[in-house]
Amino acid sequence: MLRPYEILLKAGLRPTRQRLDLAGLIFGASGRHLTAKELYQFARESDVSVSLATVYNALNQFADASIIKRIPVDRGLVYFDTDINAHHHFYVDGEDRIIDIGSDAISFGGFHEIPDGYVISGVEIVIRLQRCGQTSKCIASVAEEMSIETDPPDEKPSDI
Ligand SMILES: [Zn+2]
Repeated sequence: MLRPYEILLKAGLRPTRQRLDLAGLIFGASGRHLTAKELYQFARESDVSVSLATVYNALNQFADASIIKRIPVDRGLVYFDTDINAHHHFYVDGEDRIIDIGSDAISFGGFHEIPDGYVISGVEIVIRLQRCGQTSKCIASVAEEMSIETDPPDEKPSDI
């Protein structure tokens, strides 16, 4: 695996101290998804002295140089991903959590409404999830998905 210095040089980015520190944090763990604010927090905890603006700039420069990938999730919420291979994501509303989905897990059929003169350069999907609460609608939909029959909760209690 390449070291931050080599990653930056290969991408044509001058390996400044701050870029090196931030790249070291980002690439320290593989498959990491981070927002700028999370990286800023991580930098502070790691005694890397940078401003939030510097973190934003560096992440955008890294994404422009294709060494990380942008995942726009919501208006104003962008995750950055160290896995630059094509794949999809689940985003869990209310938990600020993003989960990888393999590129083969979603398939498309009969999609040929592409404007003349264009080709599809990539398809990356963010599927928004909400944690299933204890509402009857939620329980029924999960049960239906799993082909389980549900008993109304107040019907004869069972001794197991
Ligand atoms: Zn990912």
